[in-house]
Amino acid sequence: MPPSPSDAEAPTIHPALAVRRSATKGRMVVAASAIEPRTTLMVDLPYALVPAPRAHDPPFSFCSRDRCHRRLPLPSQTAVTCPQRCAPEVVWCSQDCRAQDTARHQPECAWLRSGGCTVRQKHGEFGFELLWLLAKMFIRKHCDGSLTTTTATTTTRDADADADADADTTSHFNHRGWDSVWDLAGSPASFPDQDVRGWRDLARAHLVDKIPGVACTLDQAVGLVCRIETNSFGLYPGVTGEFPITQRQGRGEYYGSGLYPTAAMFNHACCPNVSHRLDEHNRRVFSANRKIMPGEECCISYFDLVDFQDAAVRRHEVRTKWTFACDCQRCQDDADEKLPDFLSGLGLDVDSD
Ligand SMILES: [Zn+2]
Ligand SMILES: [Zn+2]
Ligand SMILES: [Zn+2]
Repeated sequence: MPPSPSDAEAPTIHPALAVRRSATKGRMVVAASAIEPRTTLMVDLPYALVPAPRAHDPPFSFCSRDRCHRRLPLPSQTAVTCPQRCAPEVVWCSQDCRAQDTARHQPECAWLRSGGCTVRQKHGEFGFELLWLLAKMFIRKHCDGSLTTTTATTTTRDADADADADADTTSHFNHRGWDSVWDLAGSPASFPDQDVRGWRDLARAHLVDKIPGVACTLDQAVGLVCRIETNSFGLYPGVTGEFPITQRQGRGEYYGSGLYPTAAMFNHACCPNVSHRLDEHNRRVFSANRKIMPGEECCISYFDLVDFQDAAVRRHEVRTKWTFACDCQRCQDDADEKLPDFLSGLGLDVDSD
């Protein structure tokens, strides 16, 4: 079998992209030189992905092997399942992928058959998805072992250490593997105590010392949850953030989630100059929506713009889900449209036109 194209170890990053730090926005991706429309700017590889629970009837699954992650339509006639029947979501695209994934899947399989099962019963599918992603990340770290590269650690500052305006922090782009995950923003200090306590209890009960042969401390687990909550991407079949909006249909049904450590540097705008989609191996491909000028920030949309075209509803979505007030050009242009008081804290099915 020829090697899968996703066997590449490193993300592809266009030379015009740089990471800078601003005093107000923290780290951000900027264009160091002009970028033409439709240029492919980045192809990022996930550090770890988990499929959506089968109970939610997702449209796709994907191969469990990290270097493959081939997307498989559901129901699949060809997917290879685990002989131990650890979880219905665990599949491979071929016997070959399953064979190559044996060492990685062994501790995962044991965890799924013991702790994972309990988590599902006690904490529902959402708690299960989060803990499974954590387990996969610790197993990935364990498998990568001494292979983890630390090429840029000497030149990297701590994510929250200082706030020099426009300081060059491009070194994040040089991190690979666990280092690139651990370098992401997100710490317990930015979340409510109650949430952090809940994550700590979950990790203590179901993760620490629960993955055979894989090291995982409580502080690492909680630190990872904070990074996941801040930086993870959902998996959808369609394009996210095409702008101007031309599609009538959204990006489709959710089928999983995970961390793309290099792509996590992009900030949000409701009028993004960069859109992203997944290729057949769940690599995330970023392209320019329009011409981007030197010095301009490159932004993506964190959600499906087709779903949130109304300014008030969109602001509400950003504020409740990502806990910031969006200050993008489109939101500034729409600033006259105030969110009605009655909408705050309620559902989003209110037409404020
Ligand atoms: Zn595969
Ligand atoms: Zn298994
Ligand atoms: Zn906005």
